[in-house]
Amino acid sequence: MTRLMTTHIVFGLLIGVTAFTPANGDEQLQDRCDRIAKEVGRLVGIELKKKVMVQRISRDEYRKSMRSQVEVQFFKKRIDGWIRSLQFLGLFDDYFDFEELLDHAETATNANYSPATKMIQIIPGSESSETDETVFHELVHAAQDQRHDLNRIWEQLDTLGSTDAMMAFRFLLEGEAVFWPMLYQRRMTLEQAVRLSPESQSEVFGDDRPVTSETIVRNFENNAKRDPRFNDVALAMKRSPPLIVRLFCLPYIKGDNAVLRIVKRDGRQALRQSFEDLSSLNTRDMLFPNPQNEKLRSVTKVQLPLVENKLGIPWKLKHADTMGALVLHTMFEQRGDRATEIARSWNGDRIELWEDADDGVVLFGRVEFETAEAATLFESELIRLCRENWMREKTILELESDGTHLAADTEHFVLERRECSVVFLRSTGCKNAATVASALWENETKPPKH
Ligand SMILES: [Zn+2]
Repeated sequence: MTRLMTTHIVFGLLIGVTAFTPANGDEQLQDRCDRIAKEVGRLVGIELKKKVMVQRISRDEYRKSMRSQVEVQFFKKRIDGWIRSLQFLGLFDDYFDFEELLDHAETATNANYSPATKMIQIIPGSESSETDETVFHELVHAAQDQRHDLNRIWEQLDTLGSTDAMMAFRFLLEGEAVFWPMLYQRRMTLEQAVRLSPESQSEVFGDDRPVTSETIVRNFENNAKRDPRFNDVALAMKRSPPLIVRLFCLPYIKGDNAVLRIVKRDGRQALRQSFEDLSSLNTRDMLFPNPQNEKLRSVTKVQLPLVENKLGIPWKLKHADTMGALVLHTMFEQRGDRATEIARSWNGDRIELWEDADDGVVLFGRVEFETAEAATLFESELIRLCRENWMREKTILELESDGTHLAADTEHFVLERRECSVVFLRSTGCKNAATVASALWENETKPPKH
């Protein structure tokens, strides 16, 4: 999947900005690439230190190179644990097939920049694959690679153990590759773009409101009605879990807004810095800006105490991760403003998935919020989700607890909020769920104020 991050998928149609420049019949592909590189350098100041080569490859060749790249990328190593963890939070069903999704994504790809070969690969066959915008989009990825060494960044992201940071990086990567072509198309400089009135800015880049998976799927279906080439990807999106739909599309739709916010704050330098400050990357900053405050916000680094001795010997740690604001928002995306209030206030989290040999599963975590109001909202929404979805059709017992403890058959759900912090646990086949949950407060550095 990582390779998809440097892959241009036809999303122009999705947001209705079809301004494809028709391919100039006689101009050679490499000449066109060189001309665009020169033009965009003058207009938007994209720095290409080295000439970028462009090649046409067949879809079969692309499929092979993409598959081999996916195999070696870290996400492949982490994705099973990530999916299993989020399955336990209702974000994936049992039928989700990652490989099938990759197949569909491949068919929707028309151009790609490969950090391995340092070349732009154009996959002929679609009208938009050789337009100036597509070539420019891939040139931005080439500039990013020359500036930062993208493979080095992927390796570094791997060591962070945060799928959220990785997702946020996609917003930067694709956001910038959408941002400059958008300016180029309008013959606008960066200085002009940052000085646009708020109204004109939303006209050009869209507003900051989150787009739900339902809206994205509906747009794909509408596009497929107009252009059958979208049928395959529209069907794939319809079948995919909401989180996957948003993960695939939002970096293209919302990443440019995030990039604009960054350059407004501190110009090009801030954008370059964002590519290097990997440990502070998070989807809250990409998707849920605080309209009252444009300054850089902090994130609490959450560390969970060791609970191995509370769980017992047969239990093994299967996955540790950071959920992040996009995951939280998607959990409650049907709830509109509530979801946004929760996600906007997200201020760090950590989750762990443990399993034993008898199919026992425990997922627990701690989430920090900027305000106690948002933490309270998260608390009530998560309890609602548990009652209405996870334990639906079961007899739910309410057990004695400092917060909430629901039990049904061998399932447990424990949650406790202290001010802006929420600790939660969901388990099946774990006898001491409550003990494990309360142990999560053990390393409390900031005792609750009462
Ligand atoms: Zn791209």
